[in-house]
Amino acid sequence: MASTDYKVSYTTYQNIIGNKLTPTTQTRKAVCPSNEEPLWDGPVSTQEDVDAAVSAAKAAYPAWKKLSHDERVEYLTKFADALEANQQELTELLGKEAGKPVQSASFEVFVVNLLARDTLKLRLDEETAEDSEDRKATVRYVPLGVGVGIVPWNFPLALGIGKAVPALLAGNTFIWKPSPFSPYSALKIAEIGAKVLPPGVFQAISGEDNLGPMLTAHPDVAKVSFTGSTETGKKVMASCAATLKRVTLELGGNDAAIVCDDVDIATVSAKVASFAFVHAGQVCMAVKRIYVHESIYDKFLAAMVEVVKSFKAGDHDDAEAFLGPIQNSMQFDKLQTTYAQIAKHGWKTAVGGPPEKREGKGYFMPPTIVDNPPDDSSIVVEEPFGPIVPVLKWTDEEDVINRANASKLGLGASVWSSDEAHATRIAQQLEAGSIWVNTHFEVAPHMPFGGHKQSGLGMDWGNVGLKGWCNPQACWVKHS
Ligand code: NAD
Repeated sequence: MASTDYKVSYTTYQNIIGNKLTPTTQTRKAVCPSNEEPLWDGPVSTQEDVDAAVSAAKAAYPAWKKLSHDERVEYLTKFADALEANQQELTELLGKEAGKPVQSASFEVFVVNLLARDTLKLRLDEETAEDSEDRKATVRYVPLGVGVGIVPWNFPLALGIGKAVPALLAGNTFIWKPSPFSPYSALKIAEIGAKVLPPGVFQAISGEDNLGPMLTAHPDVAKVSFTGSTETGKKVMASCAATLKRVTLELGGNDAAIVCDDVDIATVSAKVASFAFVHAGQVCMAVKRIYVHESIYDKFLAAMVEVVKSFKAGDHDDAEAFLGPIQNSMQFDKLQTTYAQIAKHGWKTAVGGPPEKREGKGYFMPPTIVDNPPDDSSIVVEEPFGPIVPVLKWTDEEDVINRANASKLGLGASVWSSDEAHATRIAQQLEAGSIWVNTHFEVAPHMPFGGHKQSGLGMDWGNVGLKGWCNPQACWVKHS
């Protein structure tokens, strides 16, 4: 197919069920976070829409499962081609619905293309546990059935594709439920999928707050892969327990960065600041607590402040902007409460602070550093999910490791030092699903990503993630 044949129209946003644009009785509009203008009409799915999508996915499953791995790769390669053909339109759409300035939306679409293509290099082969004169014992990985992906609003495309492609590659059919705050791009991705995949294999349905529970409760759904808050993750797990659905939970984070006394202050302060404020801090694995060795604390903090002051804020059309708005009014209101704690508890700010007065439209918040607040303050203990971060002092290595591990969350953590071996020894003592040395945020389709403790259960991506879309099967052959 020529790349123009893969293009879809960006004017109508409806559910994709059985490869067809499917209207709902009611519609709703989400809001552009940069200017608070209503966007397009989108679906409000009901139980009937859920039943229709699940039944189409169930009907498509036997044939999709029967295909060989290589045949599924062939289909999914065409899907990756089709996504690339729509790259520019998806970037613009993502900018508008997620409130991402151009650099940020382009980065997410880059990650989408990477996940769509490079996940296809993964393969789960049979594992031979025993091959003797008497018998052969192997472990196979077989698909589960109808898979559902429930996705938040902060990376509406990458997180959905990161579930859909492994699910489909492993032989499952897949239904994508986007967040009501950012429903549009998922619907378009499913429409693009409908151009190249058999009906019912890949669908998207959108709606309001009651849609997620309808999907997690559905008896014909075999697995739910959920990304969102820890609080909602617990509800998803409880709902899935009724039919013992498989679950993967990618939940909240409160990532620590430990900065040692031997770092190059100019370089590391710039990197750590970027990893804390990227997408205005609305990233599960953003740096959310920065522990800096006491001997360099003042210089490091001053350098970070200069970096933060240089960040340009702007809307989805702004090619220079690093910081976009908060994605929605609910999160904006939560952050107003977080910022109000500064005055209430007398925390010192090194830069930023509560917005004095809202100017113009859009949910913008000033990037803010809280200077050495107490360890038990809410800004250290809780995930703010916005452009506000505490910087804290440390002196003793064992003590800082304990402080980093004191969180009930354990998504990611990083250690920064010019002594790689020393930093790695510290990092390996941190309780988190990803540990990084002299970086943060590094992810790849061939590496698993997920959380320890209350940051999640199971992992997406890599062969670990692919296995999460399968049941292991023990196969015994007795030689006669
Ligand atoms: P959220 O939990 O409010 O919503 C996530 C999704 O779940 C949305 O699609 C929502 O409609 C749906 N949902 C809500 N209630 C549901 C229910 N009872 N049953 C089923 N689905 C339901 O999260 P959010 O505010 O959209 O996202 C922010 C949170 O997500 C932060 O805590 C962030 O750390 C986390 N997050 C985690 C990762 C990760 O990979 N670990 C990635 C991004 C975001």
